[in-house]
Amino acid sequence: MKKQFLSACLLAGFSFSACFAQKDPKLTEQWNPVPPVINPGSAQQAPSDAIVLFDGKNLSEWVSAKDGSTPAAWVVENGIFTVKAGTGDIKTKQVFEDFQLHIEWRTPAKVESEGQGRGNSGVFLMEQYELQVLDSYGNTTYSNGQAGSIYKQTMPMVNASKGPGEWQTYDVIFTAPRFLDNGMLKSPARITVLHNGVLIQNNTAIAGATEFIGIATYKKHGPMGIKLQDHGNPVSFRNIWVRKL
Ligand code: MG
Repeated sequence: MKKQFLSACLLAGFSFSACFAQKDPKLTEQWNPVPPVINPGSAQQAPSDAIVLFDGKNLSEWVSAKDGSTPAAWVVENGIFTVKAGTGDIKTKQVFEDFQLHIEWRTPAKVESEGQGRGNSGVFLMEQYELQVLDSYGNTTYSNGQAGSIYKQTMPMVNASKGPGEWQTYDVIFTAPRFLDNGMLKSPARITVLHNGVLIQNNTAIAGATEFIGIATYKKHGPMGIKLQDHGNPVSFRNIWVRKL
């Protein structure tokens, strides 16, 4: 018998004989603590304990990624917002470390380009680890650059893309990297992603900050925002919420 189990069992108030015999199913029941009760919402509605980053009204939770200026320059219309080409990336005012993120996105209905030029945007976790947004419906490009890839690092397990002009979802569970005091990496960032409800990244270790050219590396940092990419294509977003973990 493991000592740890025995002491935990005794601490939980069971008798020595019960703990020693391990025959009572109650021994492995955990009653406390109790997970908080929340309203799970629905695809269209955030859970009751989420931080809503866009509720269809305005970009008050967002600033220019370049200089922090407000309001973020992208266009809000009919409950969604859309990249305004040339105005640059936008990022959240709030910073996060480990979190669950829900975000919905839509690439243009009218296909005007191909490869990386077709509905390109991106969700940069901690402003530097890109989960690619791209119209990858019948659109050939490098595998680790298609929708759902950790850009230039890890391709998605499957291509769960919907067509151009259709709303798509990412549900992300992100664990921030940890660093030692001397700046060395202690543990890499990890990411799990469901694309349109389908698992496409399963606790994937991230190799470092996204690089267009060259190998990704880590540089020590603390909590940071969520950044969305202006890649020149009018990609739209809606219903964005995050839960700190
Ligand atoms: Mg991108």
